[in-house]
Amino acid sequence: MQYIAGIDIGGTKMAVSIADRNGPLVRIAEATVKLGTPRAPAEQAVSMLRSACERIGISLSELGAVGVSSCGPFVKHGGLIHLVAPNICGGIGNRGDLLNDWESVPLEQVLREHFTHVAIQNDCVAALAAERAFGALHNEDNCAYVTWSTGIGFGLCVDGRLLHGKNGNAGHAGHMLLTDQSQAQCGCGNYGDTEALASGRNLEVQYGRSPEELFNAVKEGDVHAHAAVVHAAKWFGRALYNVTATLDLRVFAIGGSIWHHHGDWLEPIVREEICSHLPALTQGVQLIRPALDAHVADAGALYLVMPDDWVADWRQLSLWDRIAETEME
Ligand SMILES: [Zn+2]
Repeated sequence: MQYIAGIDIGGTKMAVSIADRNGPLVRIAEATVKLGTPRAPAEQAVSMLRSACERIGISLSELGAVGVSSCGPFVKHGGLIHLVAPNICGGIGNRGDLLNDWESVPLEQVLREHFTHVAIQNDCVAALAAERAFGALHNEDNCAYVTWSTGIGFGLCVDGRLLHGKNGNAGHAGHMLLTDQSQAQCGCGNYGDTEALASGRNLEVQYGRSPEELFNAVKEGDVHAHAAVVHAAKWFGRALYNVTATLDLRVFAIGGSIWHHHGDWLEPIVREEICSHLPALTQGVQLIRPALDAHVADAGALYLVMPDDWVADWRQLSLWDRIAETEME
């Protein structure tokens, strides 16, 4: 296999990248298409891959395998993965803020019309796989990759095995119910789940200020903003406690824009919420920063289909770092 491709599908943006044994070759990013037929986002990915191939002078058929790191959840129809993502499909939940009425996106079906080797994973599972292969979780057998951003998601590894579940949705602890005493609603429809209480999208719904505005207000000494953010951090910590208690994990690598920018002062609040319960389960639990940073999703997508004999070179030479340099307008 000479060339592999990665697709990163998010609620806001989509990115594709192509790599060979020696590293990333090209990357293109666009806003995720959320208009037209439910096939549109999948067709957008194929069209972006075609453009990326043109940039490096190869044809689409030369891509030996395509890995996909996508926001979830997934459902399977006829064994094929469809996206049922509240941030892409306007037919889910009742927010009315998306201009389509899609119930699901037939992602795998569209990709298989063009490629024979396709591997699709939830974005946090792909990120976890990449951090274990190349990054901060190397040699960790009981660990999680967590993102705290627009949404909140987990990729879980127990006894050295990545957890997938019946539809590939293991790790959707962002929709784990934490309280029925809250009016905070998640995009999935739940009240009082982890995302409802702490995700960037729902902080904005709850407090009428974007996470950036909220955190800026905290810096300026706004006590209400401070209380709101501490409240969110405690619930986030409780979610981590519940996952620790359930799976006996040792390390959480936490990424996502909220943690990336504010993790330094949020960490003691989150750590206190984890460690103030049942020390037998929580003692020694570590919260660490991921190593792959902004391109963890691209690296994760590529890693899903990467030949084993490339992996050591990618790790040793930090080749994923070059993804940023291959960015095309
Ligand atoms: Zn939810």
